[in-house]
Amino acid sequence: MNEDTLSPSYDVVVIGGGAAGLSGALMLARARRATAVIDAGHPRNAPAGGVHGLLGREGVPPLELAARGRAEARSYGAHIITGEVVTTTRNPTGDFTVTLADGRTTTARRLLITTGLEDVLPDIPGAAARWGKDLVHCPYCHGYEVRDQPLGVIATGPMSVHQALLFRQWTADLVLFTHDQPLPSEEDAEKLAARGVQVITGPIASLDTTDGRLTAITLADGRSIPRAAAAAATGMRARAGFIAGLDLALAPHPSGMGHYLPAEPTGKTTAPGVWAAGNVTDLSAQVGAAAAGAALAAAHLNGDLVTEETQAAVDAHRARATTAV
Ligand SMILES: Cc1cc2nc3c(=O)[nH]c(=O)nc-3n(C[C@H](O)[C@H](O)[C@H](O)COP(=O)(O)OP(=O)(O)OC[C@H]3O[C@@H](n4cnc5c(N)ncnc54)[C@H](O)[C@@H]3O)c2cc1C
Repeated sequence: MNEDTLSPSYDVVVIGGGAAGLSGALMLARARRATAVIDAGHPRNAPAGGVHGLLGREGVPPLELAARGRAEARSYGAHIITGEVVTTTRNPTGDFTVTLADGRTTTARRLLITTGLEDVLPDIPGAAARWGKDLVHCPYCHGYEVRDQPLGVIATGPMSVHQALLFRQWTADLVLFTHDQPLPSEEDAEKLAARGVQVITGPIASLDTTDGRLTAITLADGRSIPRAAAAAATGMRARAGFIAGLDLALAPHPSGMGHYLPAEPTGKTTAPGVWAAGNVTDLSAQVGAAAAGAALAAAHLNGDLVTEETQAAVDAHRARATTAV
């Protein structure tokens, strides 16, 4: 795809072009808004082979979905710009200046923030290399692909027992590794035992592979437990280092899952003119939910512009009427 040229101004700049950003841009471009998507090009699920649980596009490779989304938004006139936004500021005129890492700038009447989140992996040798392949986090995204195999859940926090009980739906051969977390409570231990989930205590030393596939989880005491795949909940941190100039800040998520950018269900943030959607504000949204959230946010954002334009038209209409009298 040829690169679009960044214009000096837009109605809306969408920051981040994953499922959320491209869905929002599609809605905005179809609403005949001058729209740019500025995207650094690293969707969170890029390491995965396919997007699962997505009606109509089941199993599509993540970058193929992004390419289709870019083409669809572009076909209605949206500009797709490759780049990283580093600062955003509100101007005295009420619009925003958006600055990219390469020094380019543009202005926008409204912003839609869809920059997703960063997964903080457990600090275990081999984890980064296996991430999205046979080290996963979400049973609904990957459970079916690893069904009926020897699986491990690596505890990373208080929700790991819940994660193990979920993954039990996909395999009867499941081990919960407590790693650096406390032992399950008596009540949780009973649930795990009742469901046939083995609990192995002690820190993990490494995730081991043979021929490019996970084959075992090795503990610090030397025990090697054969496993074909493992799951671990990650720390989640919204990617939004550029929001300070908007008087916005990340907040700890009430669930303890990580940090997010708070927004109303419509995507409206506490900063007038700034909307957010997708994983940046909804840490647990899968691809379908991220796209749906951004479509809703885009509709509300467009409605906000329509309200502003209608008020300006009414003011002008009254001024003309007064002059005519
Ligand atoms: C390994 C893995 C596998 C997954 N598999 C599935 C699955 O099978 N099915 C499913 O439904 N969900 C899956 N998910 C969840 C899925 O990744 C998210 O639901 C989805 O990515 C959220 O979309 P988003 O647009 O909010 O964020 P993202 O897809 O992460 O897109 C955000 C975009 O913003 C860009 N960006 C970030 N900061 C900036 C900046 N400062 N300036 C410009 N651009 C920026 C990023 O580079 C990226 O392109 C998986 C997640 C992981 C981690």
